[in-house]
Amino acid sequence: MITPNLYYAELKDSYLFYHIAQKTKAYLAAHPGAYLYRLGIGDVTRPLCPAVIQALHEAVDDQADSQRFHGYMPECGAPFLRTAIAEHYRARGTDIQDDEVFVSSGASDELGDILDLFDRSSTAMVIEPAYPAYVDANVIAGRKIIHLESGRESGFLPEPPEDDHADLLYICSPNNPTGAAFNKKQLQKWVDYANTNQSVILFDAAYEAFIEDPEIPHSIYELNGAKNCAIEICSLSKTAGFTGTRLGYTVIPQKLIRQGMSFHDMWVRNRTTKTNGVSYIIQKGGAAVFTPEGQRQIRENIQYYKENARILMDTLDRTGTWYCGGKNAPYIWLKCPDGMDSWTFFDNLLNAIQVVGTPGEGFGACGEGYFRFSTFGSREDTQEAARRLERFLE
Ligand code: PLP
Repeated sequence: MITPNLYYAELKDSYLFYHIAQKTKAYLAAHPGAYLYRLGIGDVTRPLCPAVIQALHEAVDDQADSQRFHGYMPECGAPFLRTAIAEHYRARGTDIQDDEVFVSSGASDELGDILDLFDRSSTAMVIEPAYPAYVDANVIAGRKIIHLESGRESGFLPEPPEDDHADLLYICSPNNPTGAAFNKKQLQKWVDYANTNQSVILFDAAYEAFIEDPEIPHSIYELNGAKNCAIEICSLSKTAGFTGTRLGYTVIPQKLIRQGMSFHDMWVRNRTTKTNGVSYIIQKGGAAVFTPEGQRQIRENIQYYKENARILMDTLDRTGTWYCGGKNAPYIWLKCPDGMDSWTFFDNLLNAIQVVGTPGEGFGACGEGYFRFSTFGSREDTQEAARRLERFLE
């Protein structure tokens, strides 16, 4: 008789977004015709930029022409896209080789799949509050998880613990949900810690395109020694609106070796075994992001979300509410007023001003008492939500 992976039974219910959906549904049922201002969504709302749309159309036409048709793509990514991404790193002064870039269908897929590289007995440290997939992917793999809680005193940017060791270290900067981002000095401490302990950092750079501050690294490879200890997982989802189109990339340096084994070579073996590559059409669309025109156009969309962030941050500043994020990330993480817990604040916002956000408690126990606003909504909704929020917080 087959034995299922019993670790699935250890997963906690992913109640956060389900619970939010239930509560908003109940509100709308009780208040027919009511409009909700949704600042909870982690999905983008701006369409793909024209350069990407044009490249996608051209790639579709290629597939209709026997001379230009493409069948299976190389498993680790089309050379034109691997080169475009590596050149993007090199233009920022980070020396990444083309073959160190692996094209993926998105960061979520990679965050789960990459665990194939590590033994089950290895431990994983997750800085919380955290994107829930880090914990769940390791529960499924049967791995021991060390929950490293962070809080307001460190601006949700904790230092490596002196007394705890872990083999895999999850770092998401700029962070979802807190919007906080490590500066070079802070991140260097984690790189040094990983090299000292012979750990591997899984660096989630899904929000790097939102960084404004020059002291915040876009890539972990800007830090000394990072190529010896870090894998970088990146996505075009928020950078270029690819949430529904699906494209990401992962960097594994040649230098990343443990016990004589090269994680780069292991990942080549993994991809050639477990995938047949990402669609030619989508990779063509992705390559357009890295052209000068594409870069200019995606910046316009990012600026749109940044203006939403500014509107919300101004409101929080005027009402004297503590928050972090918003400047280098599309999320704003605020302290609920009057010592309120996250779900009470959620209910109050929903019932009093029809604004929907995300309770911080859903990202780990230390998120209790905090709340996340996303800046991915429309300008009109964000403006009205901010007006209502200001009256409510006053
Ligand atoms: N990592 C973080 C921190 C995220 O917030 C998200 C999506 O919200 C992802 C990864 C997943 O990105 P993708 O759409 O590329 O799967």
